[in-house]
Amino acid sequence: MAAIAAIFDQLNPGAVVVLPDDCYQGVTSLALRGQRKGLWQVEQLAVDDTPAWLDAARRADLIWLESPSNPLLIIADLVTICAAPRKSGALLVVDNTFATPLNQQPLSLGADVSVQSATKYLGGHSDLLAGIATTADEALAGALRSSRTQNGATPGTLEAFLTVRGLRTLALRLERAQTTALLLAERLQAHDRVTSVRYPGLASHPQHAMAATQLGGFGSVISFEVAGTAIEADQVCHRTHLIQHATSLGSVESTMERRGAVPGQEHLPETLLRLSVGIENPADLWADLTQTLDASADC
Ligand SMILES: *Cc1c(COP(=O)(O)O)cnc(C)c1O
Repeated sequence: MAAIAAIFDQLNPGAVVVLPDDCYQGVTSLALRGQRKGLWQVEQLAVDDTPAWLDAARRADLIWLESPSNPLLIIADLVTICAAPRKSGALLVVDNTFATPLNQQPLSLGADVSVQSATKYLGGHSDLLAGIATTADEALAGALRSSRTQNGATPGTLEAFLTVRGLRTLALRLERAQTTALLLAERLQAHDRVTSVRYPGLASHPQHAMAATQLGGFGSVISFEVAGTAIEADQVCHRTHLIQHATSLGSVESTMERRGAVPGQEHLPETLLRLSVGIENPADLWADLTQTLDASADC
């Protein structure tokens, strides 16, 4: 969020900010708070409404994209939107946290800035908070660095060390986690307590073909809905043994949470669970999921 705040710090008063309607909740609340203070104006567009993004790119000062989106895993047509004409001086930013730099390189598609929460996959062990904004524009890099320094958001040496150390195993962790994620997504789809599964690697994902060309891999986050009430969905999270009931994602350990329970996320289907698949034994993960899904069926 410090890296993201440094980008918003570049905006001039009255700027027009365009955000996806399914977006990391912290970004949406930062943007809406700025709007309430009269700093800028916010518009929210459907992630997959490419014509609306092309139109917005001609008018907006900050075009904020996130793909795959958190938590609905909708794919933005980054190839088209990043290459489209935009207002002079506008910044096009892609939050690349879910894809990681191994699966998607927004700067090569024409984005001005690529953002990563290093707290997630890059660090990969749920033991640090850090963020990265990458740009090929030297003047912009200098401006972002000044915002970072002036706002006191310089990362500590331990966080920097842990990020670099985490990066060394990113390829191995991601490969393992996304292979397991596809397996679990397929099995969840066939489970009778599960009413829908969102995962870009499934042929049933509405944008599977675009995901397959745009992404080097489908990532390790799965969002799925369970039959029943929100309380029953909460019980599915509470009864896991191996999967941690926690918010963060992209770690070596699997985490799961009911996202609709989070303030500001009430637009989500109420039984939607977001599962971030880690690097544990796939059979152990499936055993944990089935025991909790089957248990909730009995109550
Ligand atoms: C977690 C997350 C962030 C914010 O990252 P922090 O490191 O927690 O500040 C931003 N974008 C996305 C998509 C995220 O998942």
